[in-house]
Amino acid sequence: MSEFKIKLVPPDIDVETLRQLPDLFAEVVTDPGKSLRRFEDLLCEKLGVSHALAVNSGTSALHLALLSLGIKAGDEVLCPSFTFAATINAISYVGATPVIIDSEPDTWNMNPEMVEQALKARFKVNKKPRALLLAHTYGMPAKLDEIVKICKAHEIPLIEDAAGSLGAQYKDRYLGTFGDVGIISFNYNKIITTGGGGMLLTNNPHLKDQASYLATQARSSAPYYVHNEVGYNYQMNGLASELGILQMESLDTRIAKKRLIFNNYRKAFSAYETINFQEEMPGFYSNRWLTTILFDWYDTAGSLKNYLEKNAVEARHLWNPMHRQPVFEHFPGYISGQSEKLFKHGLALPSGTGLTEAQQIRIIELVQHFLKTS
Ligand SMILES: *Cc1c(COP(=O)(O)O)cnc(C)c1O
Repeated sequence: MSEFKIKLVPPDIDVETLRQLPDLFAEVVTDPGKSLRRFEDLLCEKLGVSHALAVNSGTSALHLALLSLGIKAGDEVLCPSFTFAATINAISYVGATPVIIDSEPDTWNMNPEMVEQALKARFKVNKKPRALLLAHTYGMPAKLDEIVKICKAHEIPLIEDAAGSLGAQYKDRYLGTFGDVGIISFNYNKIITTGGGGMLLTNNPHLKDQASYLATQARSSAPYYVHNEVGYNYQMNGLASELGILQMESLDTRIAKKRLIFNNYRKAFSAYETINFQEEMPGFYSNRWLTTILFDWYDTAGSLKNYLEKNAVEARHLWNPMHRQPVFEHFPGYISGQSEKLFKHGLALPSGTGLTEAQQIRIIELVQHFLKTS
């Protein structure tokens, strides 16, 4: 099935924004750096962080985060099981070993108690993880107080994969700004899209400089080309930056729309005791990038997905945990079964900011009809 009338999280770029791009083209092509710096400054100002680096994807931002912290082959990096593969792929790019941690049931993110448990076990075999890379699932903050405390106590650098969480907050501070390095994605399905792109965030000027140097082919400063290290071509392109700058104006409106979509689903399904949501705890403010529902019963999600797709509505299973993936299953893991439960019981519903009221009513009616007849 490829033709969905209602897609899961399609890009939402208004016509006015697109109309402005051709005028910018000549300028951007001759001086892309200017567009990049403006986009970076805008993110710093909005999120309250001192340095930002615009790159060509969230995944390259993750790769640069690990590289600039000096993480290399043989090192161990703590990471969540319940995330998109990009999080853990980046750890593999530098040849490090992911140590995979299961979720906790409140936010679905990395379980701080299991992080402690994992650390104890790693220390016992004389291994000290070189970093903790967490992800904020579907826009919901992880339990940052607990995790930051653990990282500080053991002097383990923290990296935040806030790829889908632009504008989400924890205790009134934006996600992506808590760790030594944070990253955002502007992939086509994210709340703001540059068609593909990412941003690295940090308050540490040395990390920013190192990331910037590696992102531009690692040129040492000399009157001719000198390369002491392997570099990458990870810079964002100027036109993508301009598209990002134009959309940043509507970030708050987009978050409000995402949250409205979530609240509409929640209200509509409140009568069903068998449906649960990813709830916000006090101090947690999700951007509700994706509305996901959890059923009590195993398999309901799969049959509802088929039913919606027959009706041209796209739905998607939640992440199949990384510790279950053939490519990652041999890595050390501290697993409780929580992320597997989320995978088996959960379903993501259309949550694009362009979703109309009529479309959402249609989806809700389809779900209600399915539940009545199944
Ligand atoms: C989208 C996403 C990424 C990858 O970002 P790209 O820009 O597509 O490379 C990484 N982690 C998470 C959690 C994501 O949702």
